[in-house]
Parts: sequence; structure tokens; C-alpha cells
Amino acid sequence: MVAAQDGRTQMNDTVPPITEDDPSVSMCSGDHVGRCATCHRRTHRYGHGGNPLCSFCFEAQSAKWGSGVRHVGRQALM
Ligand SMILES: [Zn+2]
Repeated sequence: MVAAQDGRTQMNDTVPPITEDDPSVSMCSGDHVGRCATCHRRTHRYGHGGNPLCSFCFEAQSAKWGSGVRHVGRQALM
């Protein structure tokens, strides 16, 4: 929430052009590489630890949804 104080969006300075691979690509085997569902950057999409979103889009989504999202499923069972 601190980042919103000056009215800037977080995306602008920190996200490289989509022609650049996500950093996770260099840490997984080549056959686990796929396109990010949102920006179509190459990212570690398949297999163990894979994510349909690249780390940049994933962070943007997490920020939007808030950290509580992950726990909703378990809370709903109580
Ligand atoms: Zn992306």
C-alpha cells in the first residue's frame, strides 16, 4: 500500500519488455518453458514449480488479490 502514495503504478519501472525471458526460465529445464498467460513472455510454466503467469504478472496479481486469498479455501471449511 505504501507504493500508492505517490500515485505511480508499480509496473512501469520494474517489468522488463516481454521479449525478455522471465528469470525463472534459466532455473528450469527447457521443456517446462511456456508463455505467460497474461503477457506472453517466456516463463517457467510447466512441471514442478511452474506457473501460468510469469513472476512479474504473478506479483501484480498477488498485489491485487492481497495475501489473504491463499487462505480463503481453508477458512471457508470452518
Ligand atoms: Zn507475464
